Amino acid sequence: MSRIKLLPDVLINKIAAGEVIERPASVVKELVENSIDAQASRIEVRVEEGGSRTIEVNDNGVGMTAEELRLAVQRHATSKLATPEDLFAIRSFGFRGEALPSIASVAQLTIKSRAAGADSGYQLEIEGGVIKSAAEVGCDFGTYISVKNLFFNTPARRKFLKTSSAEVRRIAEVVESLAVGNPQSAFVLESGGQVLLDLSATADRIERAAQLFGVSNKSKFLHSSREGELFRLEIYLSLPELCRRNRSRVMTLVNNRRIDSKALFAALMSSYGEFLNNGTYPQGVVYLDIDPSLVDVNVHPAKSEVRFSDERTLFHSLYHLVRESLLEGDSTRGLGQIPRRSNPGMMTEEFRQRTRESMRSFFEATTGSGRTAEESLAAIVARPDSEATADSFGSSIDSEDQSAEPQEGAVVHDLNGRAGLKSTIDASVRLYQMAGLYIVALARDSLMIVDQHAAHERVLFELAMKSFHKESITSQQLLFPVAVTLEPADLELFQRERDTLQSLGFSVSEFGPRQVQLEAIPAALGSKNPEKLFRELLDDFSDISGDEKKRFEKKAASFACRGAIMAGDRLSEPAMRALLESLLAAENPYVCPHGRPTILKFTRDELDLKFGRLG
Ligand code: ADP
Ligand code: MG
Repeated sequence: MSRIKLLPDVLINKIAAGEVIERPASVVKELVENSIDAQASRIEVRVEEGGSRTIEVNDNGVGMTAEELRLAVQRHATSKLATPEDLFAIRSFGFRGEALPSIASVAQLTIKSRAAGADSGYQLEIEGGVIKSAAEVGCDFGTYISVKNLFFNTPARRKFLKTSSAEVRRIAEVVESLAVGNPQSAFVLESGGQVLLDLSATADRIERAAQLFGVSNKSKFLHSSREGELFRLEIYLSLPELCRRNRSRVMTLVNNRRIDSKALFAALMSSYGEFLNNGTYPQGVVYLDIDPSLVDVNVHPAKSEVRFSDERTLFHSLYHLVRESLLEGDSTRGLGQIPRRSNPGMMTEEFRQRTRESMRSFFEATTGSGRTAEESLAAIVARPDSEATADSFGSSIDSEDQSAEPQEGAVVHDLNGRAGLKSTIDASVRLYQMAGLYIVALARDSLMIVDQHAAHERVLFELAMKSFHKESITSQQLLFPVAVTLEPADLELFQRERDTLQSLGFSVSEFGPRQVQLEAIPAALGSKNPEKLFRELLDDFSDISGDEKKRFEKKAASFACRGAIMAGDRLSEPAMRALLESLLAAENPYVCPHGRPTILKFTRDELDLKFGRLG
């Protein structure tokens, strides 16, 4: 008797399932790909509990006869390959004939299908790979598949499933990825009875991209194409103002299939260059149409990397195409549309430089010219209401990238307690705004410099932290409620974060499929654009992890950063005074939530020391 035996099919399929079917989203991917291969013009996907309870896919494709259906659930049964040569000219998604038997081995599967021209349909019920029933049924043309209790017989796998909202995100991403390359089919995605996607069929792939990224946003997308000798590139990409914190909204399609390419992504990011803030990404689609023989698509079902035979040429073409479109968009739209100084890396450097220079000239002036400190300061820092402050530094800098380090050559920073600080801003203290970023408080014998953004961040951060301890933030009703269309993946996120948003002072109601309505925003942030603020917070919240306390802190920091006045925001004298007062009332006024200083203070004694007048 041999110890070596052939594995039974059920076991083989279960092992294969381990490779092909990682999670609910992989089931959705396999089933929807099958529907596309079956030329369905309408594909509906419904999931419950992130797909772990139910995944249903319904299509109106070519369907299967009873005989075909019985074959389809067997291993290595496929209609998509007939000869070995076919393997080198694959047009369809599937060809290995593994998906259905794999899914059948780890779930309860029902398949109902009616082939074109057939009088009736046929239904199979399979559980853990074993056929439980087979019968003729009445049904529409096409195929209906339901997958229940995925991994019911592999508890270890089941345990590893992420929260339902994380799974829904992945599923939405899968459906969107397939939808973007297959505009000829209509797609519907429902989760827990809620419509997350409803895309009508269209002959035009750019139209499909527009459906995905919001038809109303069309004017904020660049659309352009370029023909190379061996390939064609077409882009539908957002202006920098629609950038996201998340790179998954950039899709690269090779011959209309979504495939991630490091080379294309890198080219894209470098072409956006200084148009984007660090850590943000454009959204949109890059279409590459290329002779398949020039692409090495790794055919492993779980991978989707590609390599191109001439990556350099491709890289350059994409770079120039995007770059030119951006620059053209820039001039036709007027500079105002594209933030002029949106690369904080660069801008901070420039900014630092200028601040340093003005500090230097301030100190030079004081020592060299015989003017009083006050006169010199006044010559450099504009009064808050004077034109000079206005646009000297354009728009905002993202706080993360702001530098608030003590300036080189500047002064020791010593804060002699809160009382000392308070006295620095009594009514006799004169306030100036410098460079649209620093508040300079000039008292009789000391000088205090406050970073307006960092200071406001600190104030808002403490406010938000309090709201998490059940003191909700005061709201301000919007005169006109704002309707916001959410991306499918964000709907779950919104529902998850709803309570947090509410305690932060947002009042948001659901309003039709994928639409919410902003009715009130935190009163403290009354001057911000409500929709932008709301989206930024949701975006930030989407990748916050850690224990509950950490998550609260991160959310509060995001609230503070998004809500705070920015560099470049002009402040009136009362506004500056109010900000300083709230800062000094804070529990920890000296650092912003990111740990950078908010206040530098220089006393007369320190200055004397520096200038060699003491000691
Ligand atoms: P593959 O897609 O690699 O061929 P699958 O296990 O996914 O393998 O499917 C096996 C076969 O079942 C397919 O080749 C196809 O003939 C048939 N099939 C699967 N899903 C459908 C569908 N929705 N409509 C029509 N035929 C289908
Ligand atoms: Mg398949």
